[in-house]
Amino acid sequence: MEKYNSFLKTLPKIELHLHLEGAIPLETLWELIKKYGGHKELDNNIENLNKRFLFKDFPHFIETWIWKNQFLKEYEDFEFIAHGVAKDLSGQNIRYAELFFTPGDHTEKGLELGRIVESVAKGMAAREKEIELSLIYDLCRDFGPEKGMEQLEKIKDLKSYGIIGIGIGGSEQLYPPEPFKKVYEKARAYGFRTTAHAGEAAGADSVWGAIRELKVDRIGHGTRSYEDQDLVAYLKETQLPIEVCPLSNVRTGVVNSVTEHPVKSYFKEGLNICINTDDPKMFNNSLEQDYLCLIDELGFSLDDIKLLLYNAVAASWCDDKKKRQLKSEIADFYDKYHYL
Ligand SMILES: [Zn+2]
Repeated sequence: MEKYNSFLKTLPKIELHLHLEGAIPLETLWELIKKYGGHKELDNNIENLNKRFLFKDFPHFIETWIWKNQFLKEYEDFEFIAHGVAKDLSGQNIRYAELFFTPGDHTEKGLELGRIVESVAKGMAAREKEIELSLIYDLCRDFGPEKGMEQLEKIKDLKSYGIIGIGIGGSEQLYPPEPFKKVYEKARAYGFRTTAHAGEAAGADSVWGAIRELKVDRIGHGTRSYEDQDLVAYLKETQLPIEVCPLSNVRTGVVNSVTEHPVKSYFKEGLNICINTDDPKMFNNSLEQDYLCLIDELGFSLDDIKLLLYNAVAASWCDDKKKRQLKSEIADFYDKYHYL
């Protein structure tokens, strides 16, 4: 496995489903916790933060997500985490990423949406020579469609900060996609690309809702699509891109193990999937580890990984020039590496 480790480490990679607030390096988050006087539960030990991020199930994960948000209080905190995340991603040879972020979690505390966006963009810009990052604004389904529309009206003029699309994360098991239909229509009219978390904490109906009502450009997760074979056939026929997050699904209990994850059957059946980490610092995974699991436990070849990366390039929302550049970087790497 050693040869795969070094191959995957240096391989130029792409992430399309990655949450800024779930990708904060633990040391960066620890700095913020210290800044705000520590937390009694953590007993001044960063190891306890790691343990705090072990999840029983999906609702427990959402609960922990909210707990973590208490350490993001000032605008400079957002710049600080964005910088930390950009640095960490470029250190993993991730060449391009589209980052979800959820300012709505923080405007409730009295912070201004525009200034949060500006701070995040500033933190990312500090590393722009190393990695190109775009933002997907997570309207978060828990806030409902009305607040979704309100937020959309505010971000339509903030595209210059790198916001290219919108999505809905949050408690999928409680909030189906259909009520967001008009929000998505408007988002498209404003020129945003669209994705929705679906088929993660809820089943195939939720994926159908995202397709039929929200008319999404991509599906976030899509894990439980297998519950309806007509849906799998539809996804194959239309080649709608799916942002699959295998280790994330194991950590939140959506599937029991990588070997039980449908990623292999989706790939074999020819669905348009790419691989992503979701919330790597909360799930203790990385893109390298996700790929390694596919190789190790599901028998994917390095050529299969190349195809998955090409899928990610094609499904990304960057311009054609950037897509060509990313694809040739991956192709060159494979040519030079002389793997067997
Ligand atoms: Zn997600």
